[in-house]
Amino acid sequence: MHIVIIGNSIAADCLIEELGRHTSGPALDVTVIGDEPHRAYNRVLLSQVLSGDVSDSSIALRTPNWQSNHRIRYRQGLRVEEIDRAAQQVALDNGEQLHYDRLVLATGARASLPKGVDPTLHGVRVFRTLDDAHTLINTPKGSHTIVFGGGLLGLEAAAGLLSLGVRVTLVHRNAWLLNRQLDRAAGRLLLANLQRRGLLVELGSTVSAVEGDRHVRAVRLDSGRCLSATQIVFATGITPRAELALAAGLPVNRGVMVDDHLQSPDPCVFALGECAECSGETVGLVSPIRDQAKVLARTLLGQSGDPYTHRAHAAQLKVAGIDVFSAGDVNHEGEQTMVFDDPLTPARRKLVLENGRLKAIMLFGDVRDGPWFNTLMQKGINTRALSDRLLFGKAYCEGIAA
Ligand SMILES: Cc1cc2nc3c(=O)[nH]c(=O)nc-3n(C[C@H](O)[C@H](O)[C@H](O)COP(=O)(O)OP(=O)(O)OC[C@H]3O[C@@H](n4cnc5c(N)ncnc54)[C@H](O)[C@@H]3O)c2cc1C
Repeated sequence: MHIVIIGNSIAADCLIEELGRHTSGPALDVTVIGDEPHRAYNRVLLSQVLSGDVSDSSIALRTPNWQSNHRIRYRQGLRVEEIDRAAQQVALDNGEQLHYDRLVLATGARASLPKGVDPTLHGVRVFRTLDDAHTLINTPKGSHTIVFGGGLLGLEAAAGLLSLGVRVTLVHRNAWLLNRQLDRAAGRLLLANLQRRGLLVELGSTVSAVEGDRHVRAVRLDSGRCLSATQIVFATGITPRAELALAAGLPVNRGVMVDDHLQSPDPCVFALGECAECSGETVGLVSPIRDQAKVLARTLLGQSGDPYTHRAHAAQLKVAGIDVFSAGDVNHEGEQTMVFDDPLTPARRKLVLENGRLKAIMLFGDVRDGPWFNTLMQKGINTRALSDRLLFGKAYCEGIAA
């Protein structure tokens, strides 16, 4: 059985690892086609590449030795242009046609730009690929960049640029930064920390127009303010790359629609990762992709197993000196909400519970207990007996099974 995977990144890598777990190497006949010119790399670590904390070579997902020891063909720097489902073939941009028995779409997502922004204007950037990271690294010191989007990606881009000596203004449409991961009070702590580092922040604003002929000159905000800048970085969301599937007549909503075994209505075509919409949900983090890869490997090998189920996954901010751990909807007031503030550190933690079970976790400043709380949440452990101590973390709750 020849499996062709389109996209050579985290989803493809997780799937190959899972396939390898269930079969011996030579039994696998897999071709992975990726249009980026580099060997597959860990996209998650691009923020550390930007801040100069890690090198390009240290973020490779597989070493060349690993590649040659496995009978998996990596075709890098090639784009799949078309899927012919009737002939079970894909057409590559070098004119080759490849036959498949099973086809997996792992084409990920692209950064979205707000409507009306011209992507060809010099100085309009996104932060998605290794090439994007290199472009940002070359930003002249002392120049002014505006980053749109105060989510995890925008903050990591802004902090990375600041560390390179660039002047940065972060514009966020919500009333506080990381509004999906933090509550308003923790958002204030985060803001104060970033402002101390020299970050300029505009909250409750968004782009209204980008000014400049061939090169960005200024940005007009919907508040009416006009900020001059030579570069703007959009970290305002992603769009699943589903155009190949759409052209091949597969159902596409936000992403390529697949069932809870990651299968499309075509029994030979599957999708996982950020390009997929599995039972109505798209993903934007690595841990659900790992869950999907486990299910899809079994599906491809005809083994039975549990279907994929969407659950709350933890997210962390990767900015040195600012610790954030968050999972679930931290701004939803549950049956019980526990909050602890330590103004000295400063730190804040918040737990949201329903029927004694954790539904959301927010840790700002001290995140050491994050994985422990997360295990309690994922396992659905009833913590009622610990309600007087739970908030203070693992050290105060010895004996609880997690
Ligand atoms: C800077 C940054 C930091 C991040 N930090 C975190 C983090 O801390 N934690 C976390 O969980 N997640 C993080 N993420 C998100 C995480 O990287 C993504 O969830 C993950 O990369 C998605 O994997 P994927 O394989 O589905 O898609 P992608 O990584 O987007 O890979 C898809 C690949 O397919 C290729 N492709 C697309 N179409 C074709 C075609 N037609 N032919 C050939 N190749 C094609 C693309 O070029 C790309 O290489 C971060 C993302 C970024 C950008």
